[in-house]
Amino acid sequence: MTTKKRASLVIIGSGPVGMVAALIFKEHFEKIILLERQSKEGFLQTHGFTFPIVFTPASIKILKNIGVWEGISSQRSEFFGVVVHKRIFRKEFEFSSSQKGVYSHWRNHAITKLYERVIEEGIPIYFNARVEDIDFKNSVCKVSDMGDVPFDLLLGADGINSQTRRLMSKAHPDFDENEFGLTFLDNWYAYRLPSKGALREKFAGGDRFWASNVFVDNLADHPSEKFRIVTTGMRQPMEEISILIKHSAEVDLPRLKVLNESYFGQFVESKQQLDAAWEAGYAGRFEQVRAPTFYLNNVLLLGDAAHGFESTGDLINLGIASVGSFYDIFIRQLDLNAALKEYDDTVGEDLRFYAGFSYRRSKEKISFEVASIEFAARLGLTKRHPTLFGIYEDGFEFSSYMKAYKQDIHKARLLALSIPILLLILIVLLQMKPL
Ligand SMILES: Cc1cc2nc3c(=O)[nH]c(=O)nc-3n(C[C@H](O)[C@H](O)[C@H](O)COP(=O)(O)OP(=O)(O)OC[C@H]3O[C@@H](n4cnc5c(N)ncnc54)[C@H](O)[C@@H]3O)c2cc1C
Repeated sequence: MTTKKRASLVIIGSGPVGMVAALIFKEHFEKIILLERQSKEGFLQTHGFTFPIVFTPASIKILKNIGVWEGISSQRSEFFGVVVHKRIFRKEFEFSSSQKGVYSHWRNHAITKLYERVIEEGIPIYFNARVEDIDFKNSVCKVSDMGDVPFDLLLGADGINSQTRRLMSKAHPDFDENEFGLTFLDNWYAYRLPSKGALREKFAGGDRFWASNVFVDNLADHPSEKFRIVTTGMRQPMEEISILIKHSAEVDLPRLKVLNESYFGQFVESKQQLDAAWEAGYAGRFEQVRAPTFYLNNVLLLGDAAHGFESTGDLINLGIASVGSFYDIFIRQLDLNAALKEYDDTVGEDLRFYAGFSYRRSKEKISFEVASIEFAARLGLTKRHPTLFGIYEDGFEFSSYMKAYKQDIHKARLLALSIPILLLILIVLLQMKPL
C-alpha cells in the first residue's frame, strides 16, 4: 500500500460518484475539493423527479466503509424485484432479491447523507463552480470565479453531459473528437401524480408494498405506437407516484399526452388533475455515453461521465463500484499514470463492454444474446445472466463478473449457432443413399 500523500485532488461534479470518491480518497491527498455547477439550494433540493434506487451489496460495502450507509438506509422502501419488460424479450424475466435487507432508496436522500458526511470530513464543495478549461499537460483546470486550480489528480464525475469528457475529447492525441460523445436512444417524459384512490391501489401496491414498478408497453388501443410507461409508487418523501414514459421520436408530446390520458384517465379523480400534473412534468432524452478511453494524463472520467446510459438502476451502482475498483488499483500502484492506465485497460474495458450491452438492450437487439444464454443455461452449460442483474449478487466484482459473462455468451452463441449446422449435417446424412 502507498503511504505517500499526494498534494491535490480535484473532483468535478458532486453527484453520488463525486462525493463517494472524495470520501474514499480523503486520506491520500493533502487537499481535496469538489466543484459543483449547481447552486447549493438546487443541489440539495428534495423536489424534482426521482426514482428510487437500489443499492447493490458491492455499493453498500463501499457506503459502509465511508460511514454513510446507516443514514442512507434509514429512509427506505421494500424492494420487490424488477420485471424486465416483454417488448424486448418476448417474455418476462423477474429478478427479485433472494436476500433479506434489499430496499429501494431515494436518490435525493442518499445525496443529502453523502453531503453531510463530506461536510463533516471538512471537504469543501464549491457551488456555482463550472470548469471552463483543462490544461491536460500541466494538470491545471480553469474554474469560473476561481481561476486556475492545479491538481495531481482530477476526477471528472460530472454526469452524462460531462464537460470533462468534452474537454478530454478535444485534447486527446489518440482519439478523434467524434469518438467521444452521446448517442441518442429515446425520449422520455416524467411527471408525478398524488398517490390516491384507484391510482394508489394500482401502482403503490395498496398496503402490500412500499414501492412498486409497473411497466406498460404499447397500449391495447394503440398497438402500433411504440412507447412504454414505467411507474413507481413510493411513499417517501411524499405520497406520490412517479411516472416515466419512454417514447420513440415518432410519438410527439401532444400525441404522448393523448396516449397517457388513455391509460391513466381510468385511475385519476379528474381530467383536470391529470392535466395539471402533466403540465408540471418535464421532457428529456435518454442518451448513451461514448468514451473510447476514460483517462488522459492525470484526468479520469468516473460514473455517468464515463459510461452513462439509459439504465435499469444499474448506473449508480456501477459508478460507485468503479470508484472502489479505481481505489484498489490506486493504493497498489505507486505510479499514478500506471494506475490510471491499468484501470482503463481492465475495469474501463469491462465498463465499455457493459455500455455496449446496454446500448443493444435499449435498441432491443439482444434477443438472440439473451435467448442463447437462456438455452445454454437450461443445459447447465452457462449461468443465467438476464440483462446482467448479477450486479445485485453478494460478492459482485465487476471485472470477474464481466469475464464470466463474456465466456458464457461465447459458449452460448457457439451452441446456438452449432444447432442449425448439426441439423444440416443430419439432413444430408439422412438423404445419402446407402451404397
Ligand atoms: C437529477 C438526477 C436524478 C436522478 N434520479 C435517479 C433516480 O431517481 N433513480 C436512479 O436510479 N437514478 C437516478 N439518476 C441517475 C443516477 O443518479 C446516476 O446514474 C448517478 O447519479 C450517476 O452518478 P454521477 O455522480 O456519475 O453523476 P450525476 O448524478 O449526474 O452527478 C453529476 C454532478 O455533476 C454536476 N455537474 C455537471 N456538469 C458539471 C460541470 N461542468 N462542473 C461542475 N459540476 C458539474 C451535476 O450538477 C451533478 O451534481 C438521476 C440522475 C440525476 C442527474
